[in-house]
Amino acid sequence: MDNDKPIKLSPSSLNLYLECPRCFWLHHNRGIKRPSGIFPSLPGGMDGVLKVYFNEYRGTGTLPPVIEGKVKGELMNPLPASLFYKDEKNCAVLWGKLDDALDFGDGKFAPLDHKTRGYPPKDEILAPYQLQMDVYDMLMAANDMPTKHVAYLVYYYPTPGQLHDHFPFEVVVKEVPTDPQRATKIFERAVGLLREEEMPAPSKTCEYCGWAQALNNLED
Ligand code: SF4
Repeated sequence: MDNDKPIKLSPSSLNLYLECPRCFWLHHNRGIKRPSGIFPSLPGGMDGVLKVYFNEYRGTGTLPPVIEGKVKGELMNPLPASLFYKDEKNCAVLWGKLDDALDFGDGKFAPLDHKTRGYPPKDEILAPYQLQMDVYDMLMAANDMPTKHVAYLVYYYPTPGQLHDHFPFEVVVKEVPTDPQRATKIFERAVGLLREEEMPAPSKTCEYCGWAQALNNLED
């Protein structure tokens, strides 16, 4: 790849890089994207409802009741639209869009992200969520919003109950320690890989490249 060609990456790009460098390289250097499959509409619909609901409490000094008592501070006001980190030397940008953020009132902030699920969260944080929060932490700090190196995941999942009396769901908030340096290192490695001419090897845990090769070898 041309070393001056701009690169723009997001947390989901970096997660693709960790999952399979080859798929990541093909996506950005050859425009060959993974088939996305059928995308469930429920999380997108939930995000829209949550955004409106949270915005009603922005600037009021009061937290939305669904998270009140579960986190400190108040909703950041205004919430920045998107955050960018520019690596001028490598002609690369890392960007992200916060679901929301907390303002602790002492000059420190924290990313907050909504996660809609079909079941309660486990104790361990999924690796893609961890990297997403690491990136948000790094982006906030790079844009003059110092953090305490923690982020908050707000999980929403259904519970049994009287469906005719509002759909019952539970809200659980998890505090996640974040490591912005980890995000920076992964970003730099990902950019370095995209500057390589040679296509990386397939992931060891994915069988699709072998399957595609077998299809190619089929005779009509
Ligand atoms: S190994 Fe799987 S994930 Fe990687 S490039 Fe091939 S199909 Fe994509």
